[in-house]
Amino acid sequence: MTFRVETVFDLTHTCPTGHNHSDHPTDVDRRNWTCRICRQSVYIEMVDRAENRQLVERVPAREICVGDYLVYRTHAGIDANLVTGSNPHRFKAGRWFLSVENFGSDHVSPEQYVSRIPGLNP
Ligand SMILES: [Zn+2]
Repeated sequence: MTFRVETVFDLTHTCPTGHNHSDHPTDVDRRNWTCRICRQSVYIEMVDRAENRQLVERVPAREICVGDYLVYRTHAGIDANLVTGSNPHRFKAGRWFLSVENFGSDHVSPEQYVSRIPGLNP
């Protein structure tokens, strides 16, 4: 299992503050998944072959909170589930612990980008 960002299912990138035009798509900085104009995280529509659709933003693992929903790769495509743990690794400096219901847990870099469903964790 992995929380690594998979771009193969990315369909559209949309600036949440409106830097989108039909003749000029959102200019995405792929180093940090933000709009180059306003620096907000872009919304990314993902769809797999089974037509499972998810709207996500990509943020570093250290910004993930318990109660967020992460989208991750499965054998068949993409799935989403509740974050049950997100904190610095207890023993290994510079590592981050992430745990997602029905998926599993992993240690990643705190700077690793992961796909989060925006607005579900007030
Ligand atoms: Zn923008």
